[in-house]
Amino acid sequence: MIIFKSINKLKEKVNFKANIGFVPTMGALHKGHISLVKSSKLKCDKTIVSIFVNPSQFNKNNDYKKYPRKILSDIKILRKLKVDYVLIPEVDDVYKNKKQTKIRLKKRDKVLCSKHRPGHFEGVLGVISIFFKNIKAKYIFLGEKDFQQIYIIKKYLGKKFKTKIISCKTIRYKSFAYSSRNQLLSKKDIYKGISISKILKKFYNQSKKDFSKIKNLNNVNKKISQICSKVEYLEIRNKKNLSKKINRKNFKIFISYYLNKIRLIDNF
Ligand code: AMP
Repeated sequence: MIIFKSINKLKEKVNFKANIGFVPTMGALHKGHISLVKSSKLKCDKTIVSIFVNPSQFNKNNDYKKYPRKILSDIKILRKLKVDYVLIPEVDDVYKNKKQTKIRLKKRDKVLCSKHRPGHFEGVLGVISIFFKNIKAKYIFLGEKDFQQIYIIKKYLGKKFKTKIISCKTIRYKSFAYSSRNQLLSKKDIYKGISISKILKKFYNQSKKDFSKIKNLNNVNKKISQICSKVEYLEIRNKKNLSKKINRKNFKIFISYYLNKIRLIDNF
């Protein structure tokens, strides 16, 4: 496994004519990330994993500072997985070209996380554009846990770059999605997260069977609000275009909530 501290060094060394898979992460790796790496290793000859806590996608500086960083154990995990290349760049290395143009989201895309975390997806699109320009992988592996992120990347960058986007399913522990932020939770809050996830899963399954059950969303919201500190949003949207035009086949449930000041998201 070769570790690169700069994008240029990685570009010098990696043969992009090979069938390369790319897994971007912010580190503090867990089973969700590991499943993306395994998907890449199955489909590709070489796998690049990046670990970069991207400041421009955090709309609160304190959240950026508090974000878990576990670089040594991350490297151990990636070594064990036999990843070929790891990119761990500094902020200045990623953002050395100041001319990078900012992608603005269309008004209709300012829903869910982009409504509640202004500037977040602009930051994501910025860093993924820089990666796409420099890391000419055949595939990029992204998790459905961040469903809106995949939607936005496909919509705004899908046609600009050749790298194909592969969506990978959310990995869970007792229905609760793995997330780096879970490392900031107490045991008690993890149990709360598990309860909330089970409520949502049940609501999803019931609505799938009998679509009229979807009208119980407000009750579900009340139940979850009693468990967590705050529900930021709980919405049902069309999974193809994130509009509110839903039916039994196309609906998806999206949630963002806080457990003791830690913001978590999920979808079913
Ligand atoms: P992050 O390090 O949180 O930026 O996530 C890096 C990648 O891992 C993103 O594509 C996420 O969607 C994906 N990911 C995060 N959590 C999970 C999970 N529980 N299951 C599958 N993929 C995940």
